[in-house]
Amino acid sequence: MEENYRTLEDFVLEYFALTDGLAGQVEPQVYDVIVEESLRYKLGLAGDGEISRFCFDSEAVPEHPHSRLITFGDPTLAAICEEAQARGSVAKVYLNEQNLAPHNLERKLQASINSQGVTLVYGESRVRYFTTALFFFQASFISDEKLQYPYTVGVEMHYGRPARRVEELVRESNGVAERSLPYPDAAAITRIEGYRIALSECLTQVQVTANLQKKELDTLCEKEITRIHAYFRDMRSESQENRQKLARRGGDVEKIDSQLATLNLEERQRVVDLRKKMTLKVQLTLNNLLFMSQPKLLIPLTAKSKRGTTIFLHLVWDPRTAKTEPLSCPCCQAPTLTLAVSPKGAIGCDACGGVSPLEVSIDKLKTMRPRVNR
Ligand SMILES: [Zn+2]
Repeated sequence: MEENYRTLEDFVLEYFALTDGLAGQVEPQVYDVIVEESLRYKLGLAGDGEISRFCFDSEAVPEHPHSRLITFGDPTLAAICEEAQARGSVAKVYLNEQNLAPHNLERKLQASINSQGVTLVYGESRVRYFTTALFFFQASFISDEKLQYPYTVGVEMHYGRPARRVEELVRESNGVAERSLPYPDAAAITRIEGYRIALSECLTQVQVTANLQKKELDTLCEKEITRIHAYFRDMRSESQENRQKLARRGGDVEKIDSQLATLNLEERQRVVDLRKKMTLKVQLTLNNLLFMSQPKLLIPLTAKSKRGTTIFLHLVWDPRTAKTEPLSCPCCQAPTLTLAVSPKGAIGCDACGGVSPLEVSIDKLKTMRPRVNR
């Protein structure tokens, strides 16, 4: 829903058309509207029963006394706008303009992969659309004041890993609504899996800010508490002086004693309130989600070690950056452009040396001494 609508009626009718609702015209500017149950509740139409009557002309209302007059400032229109906006927070764009037949691709791939003791055989390249999901989060840091910061996290949906160059991607996010080439999508993780990866990345970044904020708040809070104690100490000593003077004169000190007790209570309460006020709370919301799809070249790759191990992988060539994307290590899943052979003959990246995390834990288990129950 991006066009400029001539009338409110056009806008509302298109909204119902896009949300699979039905709007049947009863007479000019009067419609009977049927929408699915969940939407009926969201738009506040639940009390109308299954059919709601909408009027866009105030003069038609007397003839339709149970109708809703849809006009600016009307809560139903506000609910429609809010719901339409929430739908608009997820978008998909295509970055179509690419050179999908780079010169000497195999040589470029060979130059980008560092293989130690591994022979690589490249297959024929295929074009696939690869999607990067950009998650636009907003974190609110709430204490005695409220600070809000945006966090943008990209997820490579094919690999299921956080994307690099997120700022660059955001700058380039003005793609088009349709794919221009008739190629299918590359295999990808689901949206919810993508969201989990993005959330975990975002939380790591938010944690850093939260720790800094908490440190600042704690320092501020302790300073303020010292000030509160000093204030009440002065108040108490003044009261105690008065008490001594009064006692010397044989006066009634009961009132001053109760004042002192109140001061103690007040001091304690002020510290409790302050600590409460200076406790940091963090709220995280996902405001927008953008899927950016771009055609890339998918190249099957056979990796053979001298010890006879053969594995099948895929390489991805990004025509926009003219670079080979790091593949996921067959052992530890870390992104890598290096393939090496482990002492046991497995092929992996240089970081894990071809030893999978599972193998590491099994080896660890083997070296552990069995516990003997006596
Ligand atoms: Zn690895």
